[in-house]
Amino acid sequence: MSITLADARVVTPEGVHEGWLTVEDGRITHVGRGTAPGPGHSLAGRYVVPGFVDIHCHGGAGGSFPNGDQDEARRIAALHARHGTTTLMASLVTASLDDLARATSALADLCEDGLLAGIHFEGPYISRARCGAHDPALLRDPSPGEFAGLLAAGRGHVRMLTIAAELPGALDTVREAAANGVIAAIGHSDATYEQTLAGVDAGARVATHLYNAMPPLHHRKPGPIAALLEDERVTVELINDGVHLHPAMTRLAYDVAGPARTVLITDAMAAAGMGDGSYLLGPMKVEVTDGVARLAEGGSIAGSTLTMDVAFRRAVREAGLSMTEAAEVTALTPARVLGLDDRLGSVSVGRQADLVVLTDDLEVAGVMRHGSWITEPR
Ligand SMILES: [Zn+2]
Repeated sequence: MSITLADARVVTPEGVHEGWLTVEDGRITHVGRGTAPGPGHSLAGRYVVPGFVDIHCHGGAGGSFPNGDQDEARRIAALHARHGTTTLMASLVTASLDDLARATSALADLCEDGLLAGIHFEGPYISRARCGAHDPALLRDPSPGEFAGLLAAGRGHVRMLTIAAELPGALDTVREAAANGVIAAIGHSDATYEQTLAGVDAGARVATHLYNAMPPLHHRKPGPIAALLEDERVTVELINDGVHLHPAMTRLAYDVAGPARTVLITDAMAAAGMGDGSYLLGPMKVEVTDGVARLAEGGSIAGSTLTMDVAFRRAVREAGLSMTEAAEVTALTPARVLGLDDRLGSVSVGRQADLVVLTDDLEVAGVMRHGSWITEPR
């Protein structure tokens, strides 16, 4: 089956042009300029951007990946898909090893079905001093052997590990992760600049929500932020929700790392797509007020209620990114982090037909995943 989308403003890695594209058997087969050669579905001048790739998401629609419930996980993926996320990583939070293994095994089934792109362990190998919304009682020192056990529960679908580089055993565990094709990400960390670089030298390649849950920039103690921003091997995650970061810090990261090393994530929890109220993030009680999630005890920010369409819109409106750059930080760069950029993440011939149709106001008007409409634009 072939679908032609005509009268579109197509956002490609090379720029934005007026034109059309054809989708066949779930792939993009033609991208052209001007008028489409045959009949097509007119998008009336709306934008087509690549489907969003969210590499850090805990939940939404009232559901939470850490619960390890497959129906809940399907509900979360469906909510984020309506907001344009066509590739989604399921992020777990610190829990007991048994609970982690159980959730991982349940979610691995959904990775095999193609619903999820992988599983991310955010904890338990993180710093007590920087644990944010994670249960401090369940934190552990990293151990490559123990981590190998968790990997086995994931049957090859554990794709990312957030780890504090300064903990005993951390560097060996980063090496174990890298050797198994797991992306090691430095975060929830109290590391110095030097300890952070040692983590990168051991194989870490991502900064888990840069700035949040790590020591702030200091002119004599630059800490992890400066190390992660300046090292060309590292891609930095940003939670661009207007709550976690001051816009100046978002711009600073873009200016130093550039769109090729910056990814926008949601870090969304159960309340995404829902109203204010009481929720759980793993074992922790969270209160959501005016869309801001905070631990019921202590008030730490506890994930977000962000969706990727809002992150995209804010990148253009608040941070001043071009449409092409916004597509890069929400799709192409995160796809590259996952090693999937040859298959998806851009509106290019041969890529998976994962597309988001956006209005002039950058609201979602349609979403296509693997060539099928999730929401068909009218
Ligand atoms: Zn998180």
